[in-house]
Amino acid sequence: MAVHTVAGTTPAPAPAPGAPFGPAAALSCRECGERFPLGPVFACESCFGPLEIAYDLPTGDPEALRERIAAGPHSIWRYAPLLPVPADVAERPNLNPGFTKLVRADNLARELGITGGLHIKDDSGNPTHSFKDRVVAVAVEAARAFGFTTLSCSSTGNLAGAVGAAAARAGLRSCVFIPHDLEAGKVVMAAVYGGDLVGIEGTYDDVNRFCSELIGDPLGEGWGFVNVNLRPYYGEGSKTLAYEICEQLGWRLPDNLVVPIASGSQLTKIDKGLRELIALGLVEDRPYRIYGAQAEGCSPVSRAFKDGHDVVRPVRPDTIAKSLAIGNPADGPYVLDICRRTGGAVEDVDDRRIVDAIKLLARTEGIFAETAGGVTVGVLAKLIETGQLDPAAETVVLNTGDGLKTLDAVAPTSGPSAVIRPSLDAFRAAGLA
Ligand SMILES: *Cc1c(COP(=O)(O)O)cnc(C)c1O
Ligand SMILES: [Zn+2]
Repeated sequence: MAVHTVAGTTPAPAPAPGAPFGPAAALSCRECGERFPLGPVFACESCFGPLEIAYDLPTGDPEALRERIAAGPHSIWRYAPLLPVPADVAERPNLNPGFTKLVRADNLARELGITGGLHIKDDSGNPTHSFKDRVVAVAVEAARAFGFTTLSCSSTGNLAGAVGAAAARAGLRSCVFIPHDLEAGKVVMAAVYGGDLVGIEGTYDDVNRFCSELIGDPLGEGWGFVNVNLRPYYGEGSKTLAYEICEQLGWRLPDNLVVPIASGSQLTKIDKGLRELIALGLVEDRPYRIYGAQAEGCSPVSRAFKDGHDVVRPVRPDTIAKSLAIGNPADGPYVLDICRRTGGAVEDVDDRRIVDAIKLLARTEGIFAETAGGVTVGVLAKLIETGQLDPAAETVVLNTGDGLKTLDAVAPTSGPSAVIRPSLDAFRAAGLA
């Protein structure tokens, strides 16, 4: 059972007329299945379980749906028929995230001994250079529908920047909360879009607890916290990663996916997206394995997986992979379920291997990942070494953020080969020709 500090109901103005949530039909409890009307709530009134979106998804000819998607915009909005958003969503002021590259990574595959095909889903190409633009874009539509005037979040860094940028474009106020000790690149990106940024003296888990309190207080009235009271809508944005990967593979499932875990939301929603594609007949129904990736310095889900536990025991994070540093991951138990059910695993790598993996990916494929990408690529290598992932199968590994955000991780070991006077003699002496 996921841990919640507050059973969330937020007073909000009535939803706007029309169908702001498209095919979404209700909120449903992941634990007891009870259904609730679509609203700014995130926990079940009966059992406090997390709520998620239930749909009346389009039925009929899969080929017609594929064609409709293919004719859609080059953004996550091509999948609007499968998201809790209005039909005209692409015309609203937004950052149009998604439709990022799926890069065939033959050089890295060779280096790792993968023969079945390897692809990087490179989400560093999103508008604020992390996958968070996907989830925020969907949450903003919910915030608009509920009449929230301030957009907020508790963030490990990337979310704060994504919320700041999306709010700027949507003409909403933003006020976001981060741990005070984040990387400079993330702090600047969270502030530059002109909203308010508050550093909290504590870990992400302290920030999150603070935001839960703020939601229950009159101070937070009219505020949409994308990953708290709008969490059911926010989470759905991650499904678009699954949709894009399958569409980019020619409407088929890969054998393996390697996905980073912070709160675990992304991993659980990628699985939900894949199951929807199967149910809709958009891809052939065949097995796939989902592997979760954590940093050793914040690996509560990996620990529970290895110990065979269903309960995730919280930890105090200490890792350079700050975007994944959530010590008490809300979706941890569901991640365990999915990785076990699909025959995958959860693994972790230490900070040294994270840095090595960032440099390996950069050197082999020309992709500069943030530390979270070092975690997924490092875990992929470890899964192969330890015989947990079949190198003859086709694998997709996620890079969820841009290396420019975490320069400090590689700066000490990535510098000029030489610094010389501007003369041929000096260059000759450097021995680089
Ligand atoms: C937020 C984030 C994730 C995953 O977050 P979840 O809380 O597990 O959904 C992965 N990578 C990066 C770079 C992130 O910022
Ligand atoms: Zn319930």
